[in-house]
Amino acid sequence: MPDTDVVLTLQQLEKSLRRAGAVSQRLIVESVERSLPATLGYNSPNKLLVEVLRVSASDASARVSAARNLGTWHTLSGESLPATLPETAAAQRDGAIGPEHARAVAKIMRKIPHAVSNSDIATAESILAECARGGTPEDVENAGHRLLAHLDPDGNLGDDRDRSRRRGVSLGRQDSGLMSKISGELDPTARALLDPILAKWARPGMNNPDDPQSPRGDAEDPSIDREALVAAAARDTRTAAQRNHDALSAIFRVMLESGILGRHRGLPVTAIVTMTLEQLEKAAGGVATTATGGLLPVDDALKLAEHAHPVLVLFDHNGRPLHLGRRRRVASADQRLALIAAEGGCTRAGCAAPASLCAVHHVQEWHKGGHTDIDSLTLACDACHAQVHDGPAGWTTTSAPSGAAYAGRTEWIPPPHIDPDRKPRINHRHHAGEMIAHARRKARGRARAGDGVP
Ligand SMILES: [Zn+2]
Repeated sequence: MPDTDVVLTLQQLEKSLRRAGAVSQRLIVESVERSLPATLGYNSPNKLLVEVLRVSASDASARVSAARNLGTWHTLSGESLPATLPETAAAQRDGAIGPEHARAVAKIMRKIPHAVSNSDIATAESILAECARGGTPEDVENAGHRLLAHLDPDGNLGDDRDRSRRRGVSLGRQDSGLMSKISGELDPTARALLDPILAKWARPGMNNPDDPQSPRGDAEDPSIDREALVAAAARDTRTAAQRNHDALSAIFRVMLESGILGRHRGLPVTAIVTMTLEQLEKAAGGVATTATGGLLPVDDALKLAEHAHPVLVLFDHNGRPLHLGRRRRVASADQRLALIAAEGGCTRAGCAAPASLCAVHHVQEWHKGGHTDIDSLTLACDACHAQVHDGPAGWTTTSAPSGAAYAGRTEWIPPPHIDPDRKPRINHRHHAGEMIAHARRKARGRARAGDGVP
């Protein structure tokens, strides 16, 4: 292939991939208009994509919002509705722009204030689509910012609807250092409520975890020694951001200890940390897990547990055998705790829902004679549990028999449309070690097959 053809082929391939994106959106619209996600037991189109395409949750969400913005939807009587971003959709169908261009347009369009007229909004969209056809996603963003400045010259067109649309706080996933990014925008009310709290709890000297003599709680509390506070403030080298962080951390603790949060699924709202007896004895290194799916260094978990109240530490060396038989239908709090330690989260294969989003369910349904014993109970999130039923698309659950690789664990048997052989599945998501071992075995098997060794 001559040099020019390599570049030409790259361009042609890119065009095809972009047009394929439009086809994918059309199929997503089709599946939603046929109510396929609900029919197959998923509570959102995103969940359907994750299951059938094995894409990540964020990828699925990007695809569904692209379909919402660019797809051609229909009224109940079958008439086509214009796409939310019609010119952008047309450019994508032509293969002239990719998903990143479309996202850049959508991002700018979301920021256009409500007070702008519909015809100005349509003009803005066609200008941005044109920029996308001729430039990169960054070009669209730059043009968009200038367009916004033009549509909202004093920056004061924002009204309540804009504010309510922009509000939000996002908690990122824990990174490899176990830190979590927090980002978002507070509306003026939330800001007005937060400011006075930080003014007292985050002032220099207060709630400093690096300083054992730093007063805890509220700076105006009469029990706080004024001189100790002044001295602690003089020693305080934290940045304002670090002081805000420590104030929030102290407030979370006080909230949990106060009991005002009530109960969640039968247990007091509290940070539940699970660790093994071995981790406790070593008391150093390793990470414990929380019922909300987070990770916490064992040292920190033990420090948290010193204050007893907000935290409950469990030991998952085989859990506690609790046999309540058929005396009661509702699982006891102890059983729930034991399941949190043993299963870590929803037991349906592939589901990442942590224990805090799960309810305790009978592996064999109660109305079919299931027992409320620890070994016949399992954790399932509401969405997955709703998929267990007697209909043609229903899943069934059973306990893996003794002698099986994962004896005693909950097996989920898929309906024929997912797997015609209906092979039972076990969730390894909350047991990272198993996932790695499983992948390693498979890879070894493949390597062996490649060598021609049976
Ligand atoms: Zn689930």
